[in-house]
Amino acid sequence: MLKDESDFKKVVRKMHPQIDYKICVDSLECYDNCPINVFDAEETAEGKRAVVAHPEDCLECEDCIRVCPTDAIKLVDD
Ligand code: SF4
Repeated sequence: MLKDESDFKKVVRKMHPQIDYKICVDSLECYDNCPINVFDAEETAEGKRAVVAHPEDCLECEDCIRVCPTDAIKLVDD
């Protein structure tokens, strides 16, 4: 039995990716491989970099974590 909204959130998954830009090398592998387009590619002075544009859509498949060449992505609680 669910008592309140916080219990509901524990049952219904909800995590999303977080990019550590201190480690990210702008490979855009997460952007290219996410099956549901959680990431967007943002223009910067140095080129393009991935940003988490639609965290609410994340399926927690962890494909972005697997393809990232520098382990710059982790899933965190919403
Ligand atoms: S865990 Fe899967 S769905 Fe979520 S952002 Fe990464 S690749 Fe996309």
